[in-house]
Amino acid sequence: MPPNKILFIPEYLKKRRTTFVPEWISRDKPLPATEKKVPTALRESSAYNGIPENIPVILKGGKCIIPNKGILPLDIKIQDGKIHSLGQNLSDNDAATVEVDGKYLIPGVIDPHVHLGIFTAFDTEIVTETRSALLNGVTTIGCYLFSQDSYLNTLDEIIDKIENYSFCDVFIHLAILNQKQLEEIPLYYSRYGITSYKTWMCGIPGLIPDVEDDFLLDLMEKIASLGDDAVLNIHAENHRIVDRATKRLKKAKPVPDSLKTWEESHPGFAEAEAVQRASFLAKETGIRIYFVHISSKETIKIAKELKRENKNIYFETTSPYLTMNLERDINFLYKMSPPIRREDDQRSLWEGLAEDLLDTIGTDHTCMSTDEKEITSNLWDIPPGYPAVGTHLPSLLDAARSNNFPLTELIEKITASPAKIFGLYPKKGMILPGGDADLVIVDPTAEKDVTPEIAASRSDYCLHQGRKLIGWPVAIVKSGKIITRENFEQVKDAIKSRYLKRG
Ligand SMILES: [Zn+2]
Repeated sequence: MPPNKILFIPEYLKKRRTTFVPEWISRDKPLPATEKKVPTALRESSAYNGIPENIPVILKGGKCIIPNKGILPLDIKIQDGKIHSLGQNLSDNDAATVEVDGKYLIPGVIDPHVHLGIFTAFDTEIVTETRSALLNGVTTIGCYLFSQDSYLNTLDEIIDKIENYSFCDVFIHLAILNQKQLEEIPLYYSRYGITSYKTWMCGIPGLIPDVEDDFLLDLMEKIASLGDDAVLNIHAENHRIVDRATKRLKKAKPVPDSLKTWEESHPGFAEAEAVQRASFLAKETGIRIYFVHISSKETIKIAKELKRENKNIYFETTSPYLTMNLERDINFLYKMSPPIRREDDQRSLWEGLAEDLLDTIGTDHTCMSTDEKEITSNLWDIPPGYPAVGTHLPSLLDAARSNNFPLTELIEKITASPAKIFGLYPKKGMILPGGDADLVIVDPTAEKDVTPEIAASRSDYCLHQGRKLIGWPVAIVKSGKIITRENFEQVKDAIKSRYLKRG
């Protein structure tokens, strides 16, 4: 395979009836007119477009949001892909200057929860979905891999693809589905630096089995034996409660006409019960656990007590759960597991963030096109999942603004906090000399209509489509390179991404 990042669409995908390829990814088509606008300060400086390789850059006049410190007016000097220094009125005759003009500079966003290669090939999505992430401010993703086989046969190849084709840096979480994989965990850890693993207390019918408490305990023991940096990521729902609710509802509503029925089949207390049980087992085994995609008010209610008893429990929610609810977002395209819930659940999630009960915000990005979603089928048969990484940052900026949620705290939840939990801090998730120069220049007042073209995924739909969101990234710095929608096609081959080996 050539070592450059040519966007390629496999033949079989081209032939599919309605699979959507955004027009602007083709080199010979111009960008839509609305996307041609470059923020004034950046346009005037003209520096970012013509910066020769390998010279230092000073980002001037920005307001830096430094996690756990606050908002500070600091210039940032970048050299060799790293943050060289921070300071006021930095100058250097050999450096190019880029005026940030009072906009916010935040660490590159880390989305700790992304799935690639589920409904189409990993080879495609490592390009298209990391492009969606990067252009919208996410510079690092935590990618879940799952297979029934040993990962020893595939990890080298996957890491190779990440290093050659991805636009973001990537760390890997491995799903452990059987005894063989469980026994190989120490090898995954020592050879590949994989410190995070995933299990499902409630699986996905036909795809991922439900895990019972005995296997869960075996898994916890094994991961605890690796060391303090290892963590088990848990999809927590009581599968018996979910099965019971699903059976009843399928009988009562064989052809549901509302996403609310789907939500009722995954009751919030099923999530809370599993969280409580797993937390208890984790205490017995001394392991760090991380609950993915917390969605319900029932879980928030018990989270405070659990965290008081055990400092090694972390909770993640997702940007879709924080920004969408069943009072408004009822399109079948939004079917997800756990489901998008009601307004009061959403309110409780924001309270959980404010009280520091929720540690991180991911997306659970699982790219699907409208065609793959099969929305004309019976709701019970529609596969769960949606593309979300491209709308992650703008939807959160918009919602934080309308919920009066402090910007500094929001930024911590999407940068420093996941970096700390998953062993990437302080190279990632922070703005410090010596750290990777991954940054996002954010205009909190920019308004844009959300479209699939802006989300820049391979999908033909996106969350919040048709709405106007306030607060957008205007430029991204990835490993020292300044990227905008306008220059992406020119610079994309030079964007260097890495597989992040941990441990
Ligand atoms: Zn997931």
